[in-house]
Amino acid sequence: MGQLSLKSVIKTFGEFEVVKGVSLDVHEGEFVVFVGPSGCGKSTLLRMIAGLEHTTDGDIVIDGKRVNDLPPVKRGIAMVFQSYALYPHMTVFENIAFPLRVEKAPADVIKKKVEAAAAILHLDTRLQQKPGQLSGGQRQRVAIGRAIVREPEIFLFDEPLSNLDAALRADMRIELTRLHKQLGATMIYVTHDQIEAMTMADRIVVLNGGHIAQVGAPLELYHKPQNTFVAGFIGNPRMNLLPARCVGTSAAAVTVQCQGQTITLPVAGREGLVGSDLLLGIRPEHVALGRVDVTLRVVPHVVEQLGQQTVGYAALEGREENFLFVLPGTRGIQDDQPLDVGFRAGDCHLFDAEGNALER
Ligand code: ATP
Repeated sequence: MGQLSLKSVIKTFGEFEVVKGVSLDVHEGEFVVFVGPSGCGKSTLLRMIAGLEHTTDGDIVIDGKRVNDLPPVKRGIAMVFQSYALYPHMTVFENIAFPLRVEKAPADVIKKKVEAAAAILHLDTRLQQKPGQLSGGQRQRVAIGRAIVREPEIFLFDEPLSNLDAALRADMRIELTRLHKQLGATMIYVTHDQIEAMTMADRIVVLNGGHIAQVGAPLELYHKPQNTFVAGFIGNPRMNLLPARCVGTSAAAVTVQCQGQTITLPVAGREGLVGSDLLLGIRPEHVALGRVDVTLRVVPHVVEQLGQQTVGYAALEGREENFLFVLPGTRGIQDDQPLDVGFRAGDCHLFDAEGNALER
């Protein structure tokens, strides 16, 4: 149990359509992450699944049952928010027990379930403390504990780690992944954070302007973005996109001219492509120093030395946008000194004028 289907789900606020016909099947036990830029509708979609927001059109189906008209408590879901929403005057035990008290569960059942949740979340020694005595990470675990005791079919998380510092976020990512394995429950998770999405998701749903831009396993989105939006959104720093013109095609290759060079890419050609404007995508981490299949002369104007890698922001002739490159380790690259960088044709992505990827 814990299967969710969204069928052409729409949400409008007044005149403004913020979710524009989203259809998606989430499988039992799956960890699905919604990502996308601010305002793309990810929280609204989650809140509609939770029943906190009315669905303007379309169906939300949980375990085969249409739940559009069911209140949140009847949907078999539990939601964890960014603001932990704990009761400050109650102990950790009472905060976790809260939904069971509302259900009027017997005291021995409450004790058993709260203690079991506390053990999973390493909160056993904190049960008599108040939220004010806990760290941010511990508070978020109390909020998760409150969701666990309800034994929901589906857990919904709305940016649960955004109030935590970087080190704690990394710890909590691992905790949540462990929790997912241990409980085997379906989890749907909204975040801005690409690392959270890439590391925790079985599948990522990339949303853009109320539409799904692509759904896929994390590495599928990284290696095979279906459009320039996903190509730019997944991967950090973002993929370089360079204007190119198609000058030849075959069943297994497309030849383009880009930055004064002729490049043949292992991409399926199609009719009518010759003469059209394309975009050539190359990830910064696929750029190397020196001469490779394709060599570009760039002038780095900002070089960030991060120790484990060197990130360059460079001017490229005829282009206003920076050309980004990431090199492993520490490199003695000087600002404003021309530099030859290169990349392999096989690492490139190609997109048509509408921004859709040509198949690799
Ligand atoms: P963020 O990452 O910034 O939280 P999001 O992708 O979760 O963004 P939503 O919170 O779902 O985006 O909001 C989508 C759009 O709907 C935004 O433009 C927002 O201003 C609008 N919106 C959300 N809630 C309401 C509301 N109650 N009334 C009117 N507009 C709303």
